[in-house]
Amino acid sequence: MIKINKTQPAPRYLIHTGTSREEDKCYSETQAACIYFESENDDSNKKSEYKFDSNIYGNRIWRSQLLEDQHNKCCFCESRFLHVSAGDVEHFRPKGGYKQSVSDSLQKPGYYWLAYEWDNLLIACENCNRIEKKNLFPLLNPENRATKENKDIDAERPIFINPWKEDPENFIEFHCEIPIGIDSEGRGTQTIELLNLDKNKVLSEIRAEKLYIISTIIEKIEKYGENIPNPKDIEYIVKSLDESSAYAGMIRSNFEDKINEIQKKYLKSTT
Ligand SMILES: [Zn+2]
Repeated sequence: MIKINKTQPAPRYLIHTGTSREEDKCYSETQAACIYFESENDDSNKKSEYKFDSNIYGNRIWRSQLLEDQHNKCCFCESRFLHVSAGDVEHFRPKGGYKQSVSDSLQKPGYYWLAYEWDNLLIACENCNRIEKKNLFPLLNPENRATKENKDIDAERPIFINPWKEDPENFIEFHCEIPIGIDSEGRGTQTIELLNLDKNKVLSEIRAEKLYIISTIIEKIEKYGENIPNPKDIEYIVKSLDESSAYAGMIRSNFEDKINEIQKKYLKSTT
């Protein structure tokens, strides 16, 4: 997980104050959801069947902007996924219902007023969204969970790290391919556990392979001694730290200092 620099404000397509039909639709759908969930005859069973319109929150403009902002990577596991699936527009705060812990029953309604809110959206791979996170949205202070009356999300202290609001590298570091939580409140550790970022065998194998490639190149470069290493090798390892590279968080955590050192030495030796 690394920091996501999300485009702000929301792409014009769905901004409430615009004039296009789609813009009006986003605003009006939010209003409709609020009216539905806040009507006096609160029948939570019936309300659980409310259908949010994925054509609105997942519209092509927003989807492609999120993909661009996230460099086609999952916001949680940093995997590239477009070759196998389109990925999911993920609601950080679940729109339909939420769970404080995995074993809890689903609490309804969810954060319905944020269903069409750009601020609440990210792109995740299907595994992270549908298998791991689903409706989980635990808080450090569940007693302050926003209600439909106050909608006060600022009072909430989510356990999940929001990669576009905070820097995940302050919460999670990697020992080889294994992510480890490092913050004193345990948010990093819980984010890793709840999203299964450390025990997913396939993910661990892919990360280990990437790490092996980078470490082999670094070793090779270090063996060159006074000779100038292959510029393509330097280029490759420097690029692996970039936000656009898969698993950049892991590479930075393991090799950032070393790669920067090599880059500096190489640049110095060619000037
Ligand atoms: Zn993922």
